[in-house]
This record gives sequence, structure tokens and C-alpha cells, in this order.
Amino acid sequence: MMINENQNENQTQNSSFEFSPTIMRDHPLAEKIRKKITKALADYHMLSPHDHVMVCVSGGKDSTILSLLLQDIQKKAPFPFSFKTVLLDQKQPGFDGAAFSEFFRSEGLDLIILESDTYSIVKEKIPEGQTTCSLCSRLRRGILYNYAYEHQFHKMMLGHHRDDLLETLLMNIFYQGKIASMPPKLFSDDGRNIVLRPMVYVPENELRELRDLWKFPVIPCKLCGNLEGAKRDRMEQLLNQLERETPGVKNNMLSALQSLAPSQLMDKRFFDFERTDNEHTHH
Ligand code: SF4
Repeated sequence: MMINENQNENQTQNSSFEFSPTIMRDHPLAEKIRKKITKALADYHMLSPHDHVMVCVSGGKDSTILSLLLQDIQKKAPFPFSFKTVLLDQKQPGFDGAAFSEFFRSEGLDLIILESDTYSIVKEKIPEGQTTCSLCSRLRRGILYNYAYEHQFHKMMLGHHRDDLLETLLMNIFYQGKIASMPPKLFSDDGRNIVLRPMVYVPENELRELRDLWKFPVIPCKLCGNLEGAKRDRMEQLLNQLERETPGVKNNMLSALQSLAPSQLMDKRFFDFERTDNEHTHH
């Protein structure tokens, strides 16, 4: 598969794009989110001195806010680390990253744009009307993992937030029959990559609010016209409804991910049901 790399680091001066409202980096909401990111970075031992990190940017609000706040975190960090932002153009019709990448540059971030036409592959391989996301995201993941490995990035960062974790948890329980979500730190099976999710503590509504305040350009998602998100949207609605009825439900669910009680579940791999039997008979 052809991958083009397009890093226009020196274009800023010649650009015609004007980004007038400078974002307020020290807005209290930005500070609040930054603290949550910093806490997750520390709690899950995400970074080490001199790490070189690749931030995977999708063009949406979450990874954009992560990139901007990471810049501030980097300045105050107790040890040095470096990072680059990388966007993959999958050649979805209508994809236009110009305003987005110009915004990044105006905020002092280099945006590396990789180009790879996974859209055609997906169109060719998947019959019309069938779900395309799993192949599409597998291809995307492969390209980004390879790029990170080949360019000696120690770690990759993704913009998943608290609500993404909770929706994934429900999807896994309801449709896959397993209790699993997305970990804050993942060691890939082949040992080539470490994937970090520093926004696991950040609620999506805070990210939405900050996006509305900062008003930065985004690249619309679902350009492929895919409807596979329907199940995920349903989980989102369900969680939002529960949160409205009982505020705090989402944070309780997040706490649940951090407080497993294997003796109160049914997985024989994590609790030795035979041993307790023997112990009881001795008393
Ligand atoms: S929504 Fe479209 S672009 Fe996103 S993973 Fe699915 S197929 Fe790919």
C-alpha cells in the first residue's frame, strides 16, 4: 500500500488561511481538562524521560484538544519528552485537511499528514450496504502502528475519552459477551508499540464545551457515509439518559473499571473457586 508523507512545516508564512480568534489556552475549563490528563499520565505511568511520542490526530475535537493541551503539559513537565502530531488522510471523498493543518501550525504544532487510499480498498472489498468500519479501522491502525515503529516513536497517543471507554465497555458486554474496555496504556501484542490514552478521565461534555469555546476547524467524520456507529450511538444515548436520571453514573462506571471484584464475578481464571471450597471445609 502506498503511503505518502506530507509535512509542510514551512508553509505558515505563505498561507492565506486566517485564524482570527486566538484560543484562550489558560481558560479554566482547559486547565480542568489538563489536570485530568496530567493525572492519567501519572497514574498509569504513561511517559518516561526522553520519550518521543506520536499523537494520532483524526481531525476531530478530542485528539485536537489532546494535542494542544499536551503542548502546555510538555512545557511544565518534570522531565523532557517530545511529540509529533500525525494525521492519516484515508482518501474519503470530501476530506479536506487544509484549514485544520493550518490551525495546527498557527498554534505551533507540526502536523504530519500521511496519505493512503484505504477508502478504495474498503469500497472494493466490502459489498455495498455492509459494515466497513472494522476493515477501515484495521487498515488505519496498521498504517499508524507501522509509521510509529519505523519512525522510532516510543509511544502512540490516542484521543479516546471517558465516555468512549464506557460505551466500549457496554458494547463489549452486550454484543461480544466480555467485560472489556479500552486500557489507558496498551502494550501491543507484537511488542512493537505502546499505545496511550491520556484522556480516560475526561468526560466528553467538557471536550465539547471547550471545542465550542475555542472554535477550531475540524474535519467532519463519517465522510464515508457509514452508519455502523448506530450501536455506539445507542450506548451513548443510554448512558446520557442514565446520567440525567442519576448524575454520577458515568463516573461510577469509570470507578468500576478500576475496582474489579473477581470473587463477585464468574471468571474461573481470576478467582480460584475450588480453593475457597477447601479452605472452608478446614474450618
Ligand atoms: S466511520 Fe468511515 S472512516 Fe470511520 S472507521 Fe468507519 S468506515 Fe472508516
